[in-house]
Amino acid sequence: MIQEKTKDNSSGFAKLDEWVKIWQETLPNYFGYPFNEVSPLGEFYEWYYRAGINLMNLNNAGDPFTDTPWEVSSQVFEREVIEFFAPIYGFADDNRWGLVTHSGSDGNNHGIYFGANYLKAKTGRQPVLYVSDEAHYSNMRLAHLQNLETRLVKSDAMGRMLPDELERQLDSERPALVVYAMGSTFKGAIDDVPVLNAVLKRHPELPAVYRHVDAALFGGYLPFTEHRRLVSSQLMGFESIAVSGHKFFGIDSPSGLFLCTREVYDNQEDFDIPYLNKNMRMINCSRDPIQPLKLWWVVQKVGAEGWRLQASRIMELTAYLKQQLDRAGYPCWLNDYSNTVFMKRPSDSIVHKYQLATNEDPRFGGPLAHVVVMQHFTKEKIDGFVAEVSSSASSAND
Ligand SMILES: *Cc1c(COP(=O)(O)O)cnc(C)c1O
Repeated sequence: MIQEKTKDNSSGFAKLDEWVKIWQETLPNYFGYPFNEVSPLGEFYEWYYRAGINLMNLNNAGDPFTDTPWEVSSQVFEREVIEFFAPIYGFADDNRWGLVTHSGSDGNNHGIYFGANYLKAKTGRQPVLYVSDEAHYSNMRLAHLQNLETRLVKSDAMGRMLPDELERQLDSERPALVVYAMGSTFKGAIDDVPVLNAVLKRHPELPAVYRHVDAALFGGYLPFTEHRRLVSSQLMGFESIAVSGHKFFGIDSPSGLFLCTREVYDNQEDFDIPYLNKNMRMINCSRDPIQPLKLWWVVQKVGAEGWRLQASRIMELTAYLKQQLDRAGYPCWLNDYSNTVFMKRPSDSIVHKYQLATNEDPRFGGPLAHVVVMQHFTKEKIDGFVAEVSSSASSAND
């Protein structure tokens, strides 16, 4: 009986089985949110159950970069993951620290927290946080949580922080903690970091400056394109970066990467906790031991070469989607370096079928939706989508 059940994948619970069926049908057309629906983890899970890791209760509490990593953990692998990604995000081998986080938001939390502590340690003064009004809401939420004075900097219509507005808002008496959006959530805009850095440089009276990059989605594919300089700490001059693991990299549950310079790490307060591995600079105590294993696995199995192919395919398919919508005369927009096409909002049934994320902006005629092109997209799916969108638009105009 039980064998019968495993064979047809039934759980023995009708409600669960229905839920599985809905997602099996929906996810291949999942166009609106930035999740890679081509799992790189099939063989990982075979190994995971074969090896009985599912029956072990490990924990990555503590700092993966101390001399004595916590034993009952996967911190050895966590460290190798960070060491693999550090040069990819332009951190020198002798000037980096990092960890596998619970999510992009968790990485932003560390960036904002580490940034504020760093600036306070350097100047003895409370910083002001600057972030564009198009950035992901987690940055505003976390600044609020950390009780930081926040100045929301206006962006242009395409979603990039306006340099003049940053300059106008600067408080020259207090250190500046700037969060750059490297792929704003809805429009996929990349803040022009060199131009914004130049604004900060024009104000040497600022007591100190810290730049955190929120690259939850774009930080996945950009390093594997010709635009890799955009996410390089050394070339762009930023102190920390957060990237999600469950977006481009295809980890099947929330996870992420946080990296910063060693100088930033060295200016954090050191809680000396003898019963862990002594050094607790990061925010969370217990941390997931499986996410680093999954990331380590995909580094080995997919790696830079595999991600280069995926990234170039995504860029080509994004250009194709934009071109086909343009050809159909359907209003749509695309930022440079972006895999996110935003467009006039189609009918509710299309929004539902493709799980499109929606928004409003009067500068683009009101209601909008966006499509985030990921690994599970194909030309055929895009053709089908464009045909549905344009035929519903022409019937709406009849
Ligand atoms: C998805 C996203 C986040 C949030 O990341 P989570 O991993 O979902 O916590 C933050 N910023 C940007 C730009 C994002 O795209």
